[in-house]
Parts: sequence; C-alpha cells; structure tokens
Amino acid sequence: MKKLSLLLATNNEHKKREFLQIFKEFHIENIELLMINELLPNKIEIEESGKTFKENAFLKASGLFAITKIPTIADDSGLEIDELCGLPGVDSAIFAGEPRSDARNREKVISLLKQSDKKNFDARFKTIICSFSGENTEYFEGKCEGRIILEERGSKGFGYDSIFIPNGFEKTFAEMPAAEKNGISHRANAIREFVKSGNF
Ligand code: IMP
Repeated sequence: MKKLSLLLATNNEHKKREFLQIFKEFHIENIELLMINELLPNKIEIEESGKTFKENAFLKASGLFAITKIPTIADDSGLEIDELCGLPGVDSAIFAGEPRSDARNREKVISLLKQSDKKNFDARFKTIICSFSGENTEYFEGKCEGRIILEERGSKGFGYDSIFIPNGFEKTFAEMPAAEKNGISHRANAIREFVKSGNF
C-alpha cells in the first residue's frame, strides 16, 4: 500500500508520538508522518505572530508547505482561564515573558488568581490543528475543560499541567501517567477530530 506523506509542523517528538498513537487508535495505516528535521538539515522556525490559536496554526502549516510542498498539519495550543478573561491563551508559552519558563508562567497564573475573591477557577486547554494542502485549509478543535488550583501538584508533564485538574478527576494532569492524560487531552481530542474527518 502506498502511504500518504503528511508533514507535522513541529520539532517535538512527543507530539509526533501522540499523533501516531491516535492514528493507531483509529487503525490508520496509510499515513507516513514526517517532521521537518527529517527532511532539511537546517532548523526552521516559523514565527508565531498570530493573535489566535487558529492564526498561529495556519502560519505554521502554510509556512512549511511553502518550503516543502508537502501537505502539512500544524497544531497550536494553550490554556484559557475564565477569571483572567481567557489569558494566558495564545501567549501561554511566554506568559511571564522571556526567557520562556513554565515555572514562572505557572507562578504568574497563581499570583494573579490569588488576588481574586473566588475559590473556583474554570479553565480549559484548547488545541487547533490546521491542515494545509496548498488547495485546502481545514481546522480541527480539541478542548479539555477543568479548573486551576493555586498549589502545584504532581511532577509529570510540562507547562501548566501541575495546576490543572480536568473535569471528572481529582488529580492534576501532572499526577497522571502520560497515557491517561493523552486519553482526554485537548491535543488528543483535536487529533481525533482530524482523523475522523478522513480528509487527508
Ligand atoms: P503548543 O502550541 O503546543 O506549543 O503550546 C503552547 C503552550 O501552551 C505551552 O508552552 C504550554 O505552556 C501550554 N500547553 C499546551 N499544551 C499543554 C499541556 O498539555 N499541558 C500543559 N501546558 C500546555
């Protein structure tokens, strides 16, 4: 069977594994998932200058397609906290400024929320995947609803995992084994939407 080549716009092996795991879940065997560092010797960084997850996902997918002419999928994710009017949102990776630091980003969230009178802080992780083939652009969304706690718990994961408890659980993402988190995560849900569309 001839496999369809799709380029995944990331240098992150972990993301590639997540995609492959969900392809397996849906018994998809006809896709060869490529990464840019496997095709080109020089590191390529596409500037994420968009104001939304959708704009950033499009910039990454269309930017790499322009270079490679290979149909490309790109994802962009972040955390939205209702009490902070949706922040850190598209700035999730750099919420506390440069140099990027997950620990300082979490500290900033905690210190902002400690100024509130509220006790419960609804939040969600969101992922948008853009699939760009030169002719067609499509978007797929995945969410994971939950709440923020003001003390870190757990040591697994990255980013805001240790302060986020998904709905239906009493533990943070950072207290879950990777497979459990990947079963319910925003990114996994967006990948499932992409796979279910069958448009590749
Ligand atoms: P990216 O678009 O997947 O690179 O995500 C941007 C930023 O959102 C990351 O640097 C993290 O701060 C945050 N983020 C995205 N996904 C997750 C997650 O699964 N757990 C914790 N933080 C996340």
